[in-house]
Amino acid sequence: MSRKVTDKAVGNRPVRHAKTIIIGSGFAGLGLAIRLSTQGRTDYLVLERGSDVGGTWRDNTYPGAACDVPSQLYSYSFALNPNWSRSFSKQGEIQSYIQGVAKRYNVLDKHIFDCAVTAAHWNGDTARWEIETSKGSFTADTVVSAVGALCEPALPDIKGINTFEGETFHSARWNHDADLTGKRVAIIGTGASSIQIVPSIAPQVATLDVYQRTAPWLLPRMDRPYLLPERLAFKYLPGVQRLSRAAIYAARETQVVGLAKFPPLMQAFELLAKAKLRTEIRDPKLRAKVTPNFRIGCKRMLISNEYYPALSRDNVDVITDGIAEIRSNSIVTEDGTEREIDALIVATGFHVTDSPTYDTIVGRDGRTLAEVFDEVGQQGYKGAAVANFPNMFFLLGPNVGLGHTSMVYMIESQINYIADALSTVDRMGLRTVEVRRDAQDAYNKGLQAKLAKSVWLTGGCASWYLDKHGNNTTLWPDFTFEFRRLTKTFDVSAYETTSGVSRNDLKVVAV
Ligand code: NAP
Repeated sequence: MSRKVTDKAVGNRPVRHAKTIIIGSGFAGLGLAIRLSTQGRTDYLVLERGSDVGGTWRDNTYPGAACDVPSQLYSYSFALNPNWSRSFSKQGEIQSYIQGVAKRYNVLDKHIFDCAVTAAHWNGDTARWEIETSKGSFTADTVVSAVGALCEPALPDIKGINTFEGETFHSARWNHDADLTGKRVAIIGTGASSIQIVPSIAPQVATLDVYQRTAPWLLPRMDRPYLLPERLAFKYLPGVQRLSRAAIYAARETQVVGLAKFPPLMQAFELLAKAKLRTEIRDPKLRAKVTPNFRIGCKRMLISNEYYPALSRDNVDVITDGIAEIRSNSIVTEDGTEREIDALIVATGFHVTDSPTYDTIVGRDGRTLAEVFDEVGQQGYKGAAVANFPNMFFLLGPNVGLGHTSMVYMIESQINYIADALSTVDRMGLRTVEVRRDAQDAYNKGLQAKLAKSVWLTGGCASWYLDKHGNNTTLWPDFTFEFRRLTKTFDVSAYETTSGVSRNDLKVVAV
């Protein structure tokens, strides 16, 4: 096994160099690594803070974790999986799929695992990124950040939360050693993670207090095991699987019309969700508590057939009074009620528009990504580049997220763009490439004009889609095939470039 990277000593500290360094090996980073390898590029490394590939599917192992995008769409287009056991896959199956693809495409020897990036500075003199990690220093001509938006757990800022003495953990850091059987458990949050956890643990615990700040909209989960003939067809007639995938893709894409272009159309979904609520919750008091007060789609639409029945159980209580304080063994709500608990699950989502990783990346003018975003909001260009950060690309950067279909489609669109960018840099002999501020501004003006009429801004809710300026800087506001078209090739004319110099000052070594 040989990794073609260069090695230069700084003092006694070896600095490893790679032409391209990818940070993170979830669906995005891994997908790009595979693309580079299949293009015959050997001069890249993937730095991954975890000990395995998979990203969010490695980290989110909570009971009931499963995807709310159909399995057929939730895979790479170049590695369809005929073996999905059901129409909506569970976490373990998705993680095995990702691990299998990494092995099959032989990219694991390009990975450095347990390698957390702690800082990345742009050095304009050398035209390189200098990267500090838990496994030493690296330099790279180009860095691709593929850390994703849902990787840094957000803890609620509630008085006394650190004084709780029972078992407590975030949904994305589930403690499998904690036995919740027969315990009095509380869960804070009623988002996508919580609605999967609640029905999974409710039968096992003594009591479950569900602290709800905003009631989510729920739609039916059309999940079922695949029949043997279907699986055989997927395996031996790949065209059938491609057709099934295309049909699911097309059906889901129709949601864009209501979500992004004409939100009143979302009322059709609302009717369906209300009918579900009426059927699944018979108690009018409980039904009133969990009836949402905003237009469906404004927050992520959730799918579950088990959540409402779980809320109706005798040992489950939905608490809508705000939390005033957490004590060593209880939660006190604003009405003064104190409820004792043994364990506390925090399912309060992630730092999305304020990711701590933004503090660690320092661009051309010495400002961090966090400082730049703080001023103008989380803005980028095609979700792949940010002005002031030369030779840096992003997978799953600003305004690439979706509420209706598979992120893998967006990731593959961005892989096309970034792989073409790297080829363009080589072909043109470029030393630096940085998106032009005016190009970025014009792009964002267009995005925000589209977003202004979307349900995410008109639907009457607060959500993690919005940044602190009130702008939606997370979602793509159009059909996904439109994004695919936009990212088909790298548009170098939108970038400031400088011409190349030889970087052959480093000797090539095998590590
Ligand atoms: P989330 O959707 O952000 O939900 C967080 C929940 O915590 C919300 O109910 C929120 O209430 C509540 N909350 C946050 N801070 C609080 C506080 N200080 N006090 C009380 N409640 C508080 O997080 P998530 O459920 O982990 O999901 C995040 C995203 O991950 C999803 O939107 C989805 O994209 C993805 N995901 C997907 C799946 C899947 O495919 N099935 C599963 C899990 C996650 P408010 O609504 O009032 O803010």
